[in-house]
Amino acid sequence: MKIKTPKLRLSTPLCIKRPLPVQQAELDILRPRPRLSVDQWALQRRILSKKTSKIAGPWSHEYVPFAVEIMQALSDNTVREVWLKKNVQGAGTSIGENFIGQTVDEDPCPMGVVFPTESSLKKFVRTRLKQLFSSTPSLIRHLPAGDIEKFRTGQETELDNMFLFLMWAGSAAEMASVSLCRIILDEVAKYKGEVGGEAGAIESARDRVTTFPDRSKIFALSTPILAGDIFDIEYSDTDQREYWVRCPLCGQRHVPAWEYVRLDKDSAGGLLRPRDYLQGDCAHYVCPVCEKKWTEMQRWQASQAGVWAPQDCRVDGAGKITGKIFSNPKRGYHASAFMVYPGFMTMARLAYEWARADIAWKAGYRQPKQSFYNKRCGLEWQEKEAVTEESVITAHIGEYLQEIVPAGVQMLTAGVDVHDDHFWLLVVGWGWLSECWSIYEARIESGDTRELNNYDCLRQQLAVYWPLKDNPDEMMGLARIAIDCNYRKEVVLDFCRQCTELPIVPVRGDDGVKGSHRAGDEGGLKRFDLNVNRLKDKLYRLFYESKTPGAGFFHLHKDTSAEVIRHLTSEEKKTVYKKGKRPRKGWMPKAEGAPNHLWDCAVYATFAAELAGATMLRDPVKAAAAAAAAKKMVTERMGARKIRTKY
Ligand SMILES: [Zn+2]
Repeated sequence: MKIKTPKLRLSTPLCIKRPLPVQQAELDILRPRPRLSVDQWALQRRILSKKTSKIAGPWSHEYVPFAVEIMQALSDNTVREVWLKKNVQGAGTSIGENFIGQTVDEDPCPMGVVFPTESSLKKFVRTRLKQLFSSTPSLIRHLPAGDIEKFRTGQETELDNMFLFLMWAGSAAEMASVSLCRIILDEVAKYKGEVGGEAGAIESARDRVTTFPDRSKIFALSTPILAGDIFDIEYSDTDQREYWVRCPLCGQRHVPAWEYVRLDKDSAGGLLRPRDYLQGDCAHYVCPVCEKKWTEMQRWQASQAGVWAPQDCRVDGAGKITGKIFSNPKRGYHASAFMVYPGFMTMARLAYEWARADIAWKAGYRQPKQSFYNKRCGLEWQEKEAVTEESVITAHIGEYLQEIVPAGVQMLTAGVDVHDDHFWLLVVGWGWLSECWSIYEARIESGDTRELNNYDCLRQQLAVYWPLKDNPDEMMGLARIAIDCNYRKEVVLDFCRQCTELPIVPVRGDDGVKGSHRAGDEGGLKRFDLNVNRLKDKLYRLFYESKTPGAGFFHLHKDTSAEVIRHLTSEEKKTVYKKGKRPRKGWMPKAEGAPNHLWDCAVYATFAAELAGATMLRDPVKAAAAAAAAKKMVTERMGARKIRTKY
């Protein structure tokens, strides 16, 4: 049998005539893989070691919702520097580790890590870096021979695709010629010679990344120490983002702060013993909008729904950011213990630490209180120019009733603050030498304040005459009213033009005004731009510096509520340090977004009083005596005349 062998036409290669389809697996290899961003890398690859983390196992964003945007910023091409001002045991160091991990595993480039001292660097390598590599399988393969003992401090460590430079601030000079793409500056506030001095390691870090102008990234993080130190000044140059948590009870947002933690007090109004806070249910976070107490789990829900927003912005319930948003290649994030998972920190624990710090403070030791601000609130310690404490101002609450003009008042003025759909009003009585009395304060619900028609309720309220205590048949009207025209300028100006029967003037705060105020013209209507810092200084004297009723003392009526007190204590005077500018003293809110409306109203009412000539008022006793003397003289003369006429 003959076997037919098939004819092979070798001259025509098979593969050209009938190409084999490329397999998907081959395509996957050929196509460049999209690089994981820092947050994605953490989620997919990072394993937390039991030795360093309270919660071990694969990384989850669940326990650190606020860390996600920070990690995304580290992978954002438009961002050059990320500054994190943080509480201790926040997620800061972990974010730094994820940044190292993502760089080594996904995006190799020369990277530097700088610590304040050699010992702090060695501790980081020993307790954190080695754990990071040994517990995360995708990282260990990048080390030579997979050996975690190969890290070298003070010089370069060669990984499979990149160099990692582990440095401390003092060693920076030795490596000045090295060019880097990514740098982590850890615990910047502790850099030697940086406190108030020249910015050695920070500037040299900036010099070293110039070779990678469109890729470089500096991640600087620290627990803050002092206002005006190098970290504070650098941070002030960023967009200073705050984390707006969402109240699970009312749906509104605010930036969490120590001011909103209410501590139970003893019968004398003092703090309880520290351990009482730890053991009992004596410390609560209270939503500043709805005034309801949160449980720890509600606080955690609020944090999970948080949104970052740049300084001077506001965030509504739905998470929409309004305000001045501009692109800044320097991002700043402020993290505090109030946004932390309750398993890591509770308000009871914070209250315990605060009560201990308060005892030390009263004994003359500042450090524990400073440490609380630095390490828990993530805030720099500030020597206050003017402290506005509730305990001081509550001592101004007197026995007289509201809505009745006490003896001594010679003139009434009012201040009005305009909001979306309501007004805040404060009526103040003025006497000799700036002794003054709160008469009435109210939030007037009006409906949309863009509509002039909705101002009628305010107009009626301002036309009210108030009865005198000494003589209820006699009434006193407002001598002058100042209304804020900053927010709804055109409508408020029209309102002022409309109310010809009222002595009303439009005013607005202006930081640029030197001296007392500046008058502007609004089509025949006079507008006053106020130096609010000066007026607030004056109110500070009236509310906080004068301790005894009399000249220069601001009395509060008997029914002054806790809410009024909170408004009046919402700001304090601080020195502000800005990069490239001279330090400036000024009044600032204690917490971002804290209600301060009646404090503003008091400022406007004070200006209205100055306009109306309250400083020229006479001593009522002397005035009465002079009036009596004049009367006596007249009657004597009359008497004398009468006597004469008798003769
Ligand atoms: Zn609320």
